[in-house]
Amino acid sequence: MIVVMEPGATQDEVDATVRRVESLGLKANVIVGTERTVVAAIGDKREHHKESLESGAGVSEVVPIAAPYKMASREVRPEPSQVKVLDFVAGAGEVGFIAGPCSVENEQQILESARAVKAAGGTGLRGGAFKPRTSPYSFQGLKEEGLKLLAAAREETGLCVVTEVMGTSDVDLVARYADILQVGARNMQNYRLLEAVGQANLPVLLKRGPSATMDEFLLAAEYILNEGNDQVMLCERGIRTFESHTRFTLPLASVTYLHRKTHLPVIIDPSHGTGHTYMVPDMAVAAVAAGADGLILEVHPDPSTALSDGYQSLTFDEFGKTMKRCRAVIDALRNVDKEV
Ligand code: PEP
Ligand code: MN
Repeated sequence: MIVVMEPGATQDEVDATVRRVESLGLKANVIVGTERTVVAAIGDKREHHKESLESGAGVSEVVPIAAPYKMASREVRPEPSQVKVLDFVAGAGEVGFIAGPCSVENEQQILESARAVKAAGGTGLRGGAFKPRTSPYSFQGLKEEGLKLLAAAREETGLCVVTEVMGTSDVDLVARYADILQVGARNMQNYRLLEAVGQANLPVLLKRGPSATMDEFLLAAEYILNEGNDQVMLCERGIRTFESHTRFTLPLASVTYLHRKTHLPVIIDPSHGTGHTYMVPDMAVAAVAAGADGLILEVHPDPSTALSDGYQSLTFDEFGKTMKRCRAVIDALRNVDKEV
């Protein structure tokens, strides 16, 4: 349920509502909106507390949350939320660009990549130090050494570092170096990991599992939000279908659907979503045209020698051109939207 407070409700009235919700054995989450404050009352209790909560001072109404996810839903928070770290901003009208290699390979590779990302106008640097590889014989990442290289690249460029954490036991280590924790597609339903990143004091980029439905995706986000971490971004990175002309199938309608159902920023990953370098620029442009709040792109100094995902990585030159095209589309749409 959500307890919608009157527009002028006082802090004391909000606090009293929170205590009332908690006394009913429910968890209270206060969401301060631009117009009103709402208190989300969350729990699996089936009893109806509508009347008793509605009689509280400063309370306007109590409405049930229809969606299976609660904190992630637009019902609880009608305004879009925004994630902001260093110069990276995504959501509520801002588009954030994250780019970098699939894996951190060595100092020169990550530093050159960071400089190119920065020069082209990117604000986030990606790079895996812990790599979830299908085969145990493939390159598994540089682990802490990779994290140190990412931190050095941030030091030099000011880009915020986005990197994957694969297990609960690695959260503290990765959080010491990262600015945004990435939960990979294979881990979308690793509920203990979702809780652990929910307790870390950092924004989270949650990738959609290749076979997860939208409800499963949003319920996974709910695990993170439920720990009190409201800095969550959803990343559509393509799903498994019968089609094989692309590595995964990239559904851009996810942007529109998610914007309707959730306030969380939506990031598109055209690299994993297509699996082919030549498709990435057009899908990046299409994603921002569809209203994506950000992109995450694989970029490598020499994709042909990359230790992972070279076949879907852009060169610096291709990335620079893609950024220009994305910006042109964003600016053009903003101008039209101002007029209509
Ligand atoms: C990655 O970002 O390199 C990655 C492994 O992504 P995903 O979890 O979407 O497969
Ligand atoms: Mn990759």
